[in-house]
Amino acid sequence: MTISSHSENQHTPYYHYDSGLLAQTLDSIRRAVADAPAFRVHFAVKACATPAVLRQIAAAGLGADCVSGGEIIRAVEQGFDPSKVVFAGVGKSDWEIREALTRGIATFNVESLEELEVINDIAIAMGAVASVAFRINPNVDAHTHEKITTGLNENKFGIAMEDMLPAIRKAQEMSGIRFVGLHFHIGSQITSFEPFEALCHRINELTDALRNENIHLQSINVGGGLGIDYEHPEDHPIPDFEGYFGTFKRLLRLEPGQELHFELGRAVVAQSGSLVTRVLYVKKGVQKRFIIVDAGMTDLVRPAMYGSFHKPENLSAAERHEELTDTYDIVGPICESSDVFVKGYVLPRTQRGDIIVFKSAGAYGEIMACQYNCRPLPGSVFE
Ligand SMILES: *Cc1c(COP(=O)(O)O)cnc(C)c1O
Repeated sequence: MTISSHSENQHTPYYHYDSGLLAQTLDSIRRAVADAPAFRVHFAVKACATPAVLRQIAAAGLGADCVSGGEIIRAVEQGFDPSKVVFAGVGKSDWEIREALTRGIATFNVESLEELEVINDIAIAMGAVASVAFRINPNVDAHTHEKITTGLNENKFGIAMEDMLPAIRKAQEMSGIRFVGLHFHIGSQITSFEPFEALCHRINELTDALRNENIHLQSINVGGGLGIDYEHPEDHPIPDFEGYFGTFKRLLRLEPGQELHFELGRAVVAQSGSLVTRVLYVKKGVQKRFIIVDAGMTDLVRPAMYGSFHKPENLSAAERHEELTDTYDIVGPICESSDVFVKGYVLPRTQRGDIIVFKSAGAYGEIMACQYNCRPLPGSVFE
């Protein structure tokens, strides 16, 4: 991105989505699964629900992984085929279940027996049958941030492995339910393939055990979680999809006719989005210099919430060939001490009015924005 793409009067902060990079990313996914006809890739809509972004992803043929009724409606409105929509989440409310059945989505990823009963009742009342996969906790450590690890045995997500067989038997007896498969999701921002290898081995064990019980799975869903390079986005703008999908091609044993589903969020969109901000003040503190930008944790919460790093770039300083550097804390205007993007970061000497972009913000960025401090939501530009 160059500064020329930002007119002087453009209102900041806003998100910028690079449709060219998104196209290359989608193409890289397409090539990586071209020789694996059983593989079906869904986009995890919770990562980014910006309409233009969704339309491009739907047009590339991906399905949608939704975690709320609102996401199902948004995904279908923006062009996803309902037959490629799956619905996950621990707390599906009755209206969301009805909405999903009315729209004819592909599968409910069910996370408890209590939920299964409710879906069965609602489906029967509607004269429908809900296709259901059980989300199983495979007890695989994703080696990632504690707030985004989900595959260990006891947490609010999913069903324990030991409860899997009785759950399937129960589902098979319900007239409003058609049992189709198993679902897993071990965490997010996973940057080595080892946790995915462990997941493959665990799934092979489980499917062997089920085969002995004469239970056939139409589909297996391995969730998402493939990480991206936040430190060096320019070196790795596109994740290693060959390596990621290759792990499953190598290690997961599929039966003939069985589908393998993926639900990637971050890996699809993160590098295509940036948060564009303007410098309000460069404040000299006692020992530090602060760059105060017009974006805050309300626009991009990941640094405050997860301690995440989004690489800052001063486009204006680059344009004026600024040769001097300084060390800065880059902070937002929100009345919270956690409203910090980065501390002690070396940037070209910065002045009021400069445009600073935070890279790799396409996933869990705009969609998590809120209006705390009565701030307007950031807009977005897609080009
Ligand atoms: C969040 C989530 C995903 C997507 O995770 P990424 O790390 O963005 O790929 C996929 N499946 C489920 C069930 C999720 O909750």
